[in-house]
Amino acid sequence: MRQINFNKLLDEIPLYTKAKVSGFLCEHIIEDQSHKLGIGITATNFKSAKISEKLQPRLYCDFENCKSHTYFEFLHGVDHWLKLTEINEKKVSFRCCNCRRSTYTFFLEINPLVDSKADNTTDFEIQKIGQIPRHGKRIPTKASKIIGKERDLFFKGSLSENQGLGIGAFSYYRRVLDLQKDKIFDEVIKVLKLTSRNEALVQELTDAKAETQFTKAVDKIQTALPDGLLIGGHNPLKLLYSALSQALHSHTDEECLELAQDIKVVLFEFSEKLDSALKESVELNEAVNRLARKN
Ligand SMILES: [Zn+2]
Repeated sequence: MRQINFNKLLDEIPLYTKAKVSGFLCEHIIEDQSHKLGIGITATNFKSAKISEKLQPRLYCDFENCKSHTYFEFLHGVDHWLKLTEINEKKVSFRCCNCRRSTYTFFLEINPLVDSKADNTTDFEIQKIGQIPRHGKRIPTKASKIIGKERDLFFKGSLSENQGLGIGAFSYYRRVLDLQKDKIFDEVIKVLKLTSRNEALVQELTDAKAETQFTKAVDKIQTALPDGLLIGGHNPLKLLYSALSQALHSHTDEECLELAQDIKVVLFEFSEKLDSALKESVELNEAVNRLARKN
């Protein structure tokens, strides 16, 4: 089970996916309990904790003036006390600190892993069991280009991912990459053709398009991608390859969900890299042409 912070749970983790979370409790209550412990009251008396109302998670605000990750503040008026002796179902609501318009409500099932004296180092097992608005990152415009006509399948992958259906999400994303392989390779070729010296790789990519599967096509490519297209020093095609070539039957649903999320993250980042490589080249060409005219 993943160990994450409260912000990541709200922002990134799909419904019905359990994670270990700590660091979201009200400090006042913890200090008060520590004080009482100091004067001899035994720890077993502290069978409750409270979600901190000072939490300000960064979530995506879809309001027209924000359209980015902004800080969200707690909306009060709901009981945020947790009983440590049982599984709690809690509703937490937040409002964007910037526009003060958009809100999020999460329904959480919080399972304390201790039965008394919890503090901000104590792990709780938490899963989201509901969320308004619906969980899921929108497809960035740049990635839409690569996903192209397969956006329905990609959307089904996202829906599966949001519901915590790992095998489903993985299968949909794999299908999208198989079907859009030519488009992805063509985008890479477009970037490679901006500079000379890439002829060998362009040829390999062109030949590899004849394969029906994304993984088989990537397998044929021997030449390294230019540094500008690498993600964290790694070739994104190979990263996608290693995620996609995992055998479904040897992984749990939870492992498939992680793989599906990794595939999506790499695909989104790769489309950013391709786009900025094209843009940089256009800007560079314009600068070169302007200066050349002055000679
Ligand atoms: Zn906002």
